[in-house]
Amino acid sequence: MYDLIIVGGGPSGAAAGRTAGIRGLSTLLLEKDKFPRYKACGGAFSSYGLSCLDFKLPESIIERNISKVRVYFKGRFVEVMKETNLALFISRNVFDNFLLEKARETGIEVHTGEKVLDCIEKEDYVEVKTTDNTYLGRFVLIAEGSGGTLKYRVRPRDKRTEYGLGLVSEIPDEDGLISNQFPGTINIHFGVTQGGYGWIFPHEGYYSAGIVGTAQYLEHPKKVLLDFLQENGLSGNFPVRSHIIPKGGVKRKIINSRLLLSGDAAGFVDAFSGEGIAYAIRSGQLAAEAVADIIMYSLKLSSLKAYESGCRQEFGNYLASSLKLEKIMHRFPEVSFKLAVSNKEILDKYLDEVIMNRNYKDYVRWLLLNFCLTEPVSKIKSLTLERADKD
Ligand SMILES: Cc1cc2nc3c(=O)[nH]c(=O)nc-3n(C[C@H](O)[C@H](O)[C@H](O)COP(=O)(O)OP(=O)(O)OC[C@H]3O[C@@H](n4cnc5c(N)ncnc54)[C@H](O)[C@@H]3O)c2cc1C
Repeated sequence: MYDLIIVGGGPSGAAAGRTAGIRGLSTLLLEKDKFPRYKACGGAFSSYGLSCLDFKLPESIIERNISKVRVYFKGRFVEVMKETNLALFISRNVFDNFLLEKARETGIEVHTGEKVLDCIEKEDYVEVKTTDNTYLGRFVLIAEGSGGTLKYRVRPRDKRTEYGLGLVSEIPDEDGLISNQFPGTINIHFGVTQGGYGWIFPHEGYYSAGIVGTAQYLEHPKKVLLDFLQENGLSGNFPVRSHIIPKGGVKRKIINSRLLLSGDAAGFVDAFSGEGIAYAIRSGQLAAEAVADIIMYSLKLSSLKAYESGCRQEFGNYLASSLKLEKIMHRFPEVSFKLAVSNKEILDKYLDEVIMNRNYKDYVRWLLLNFCLTEPVSKIKSLTLERADKD
């Protein structure tokens, strides 16, 4: 009988495994793939995510530091550069493998290449059936990501309006050319999809280029991606990978009596930006802490609620505000994105308040007070799209 069995060795499962190991829980982590493995992702890791780690990321994993963001809408763009790093670019195969090693070094048992088929809750334990064996755990954390169906043991499936689809291609190029063209810049293109955007991220030796949008409105996602690549001079015969992205901020159940969900399985992704790695890590840590407290201090099962409230306090309200912003901006895309690329302050404030201070509420309030309540919509609509960096 393990104290904790973790399903999935992505950022969430690995972070949970490390915390559980440090707290002295007998822990088994089961991952279906052999690591390192590919994961469809843009690979932007925020400074908030970095601050959640209790160790330094080796320089060899950091491909580029990001201090500049460029936002496009209808061929125009606005650009803001900050003095501090906003995020880093990493490649998920290398990054995830490193996080899993950091979990393993705490002494937990890790089985890769072993898929979990089911988790059945009993009164005193959970039975975990895999392709190879059956294990018993006092608690099970399902960190299977947005794919898989084990999470539905805890919560119902999302509606098509509650998740996005992300498609990505990795396009190799000479590193010198990449850093000349986009030195440490995140490039976001609004207007490419409804409820999302297109992105071009300059990694080491390749571009990550992709699109994300609300599933309901993305009827021909591959065509949208290929058109986007062509418009940006990146077309070629490169593999396209797709994946589901849950929208954070939707109220979802994340615990049963002995089952917990974390990361994408719990739906912890910023609906506006698509950022999920940081919340995957932090929720995995909080889940393992909650289980460790119950086991170490012989608390009641109902104490698992501490996990729910911990997530809400740390980032739940933030994700709910991000969903609100996503809804407002994409309901009136012409007005809002036109305004955004015509006024540098909007992006500048977003980077300060949201990305650095993790404070959506004040940002949305500031937006409403300074633009929506003072500028009549007709005036915003008639704005000519001047390049904001010339303003
Ligand atoms: C196209 C795209 C681009 C993105 N770009 C960014 C970005 O730039 N920055 C950012 O912060 N976020 C980004 N995200 C979101 C980010 O990828 C996720 O939020 C993050 O990977 C969630 O981590 P996780 O550990 O919860 O799940 P995952 O990373 O998906 O890991 C889950 C793990 O569980 C394993 N697993 C699944 N089922 C089983 C099973 N039955 N048994 C055993 N193992 C199992 C899987 O093999 C996998 O290794 C992007 C997402 C997409 C789709």
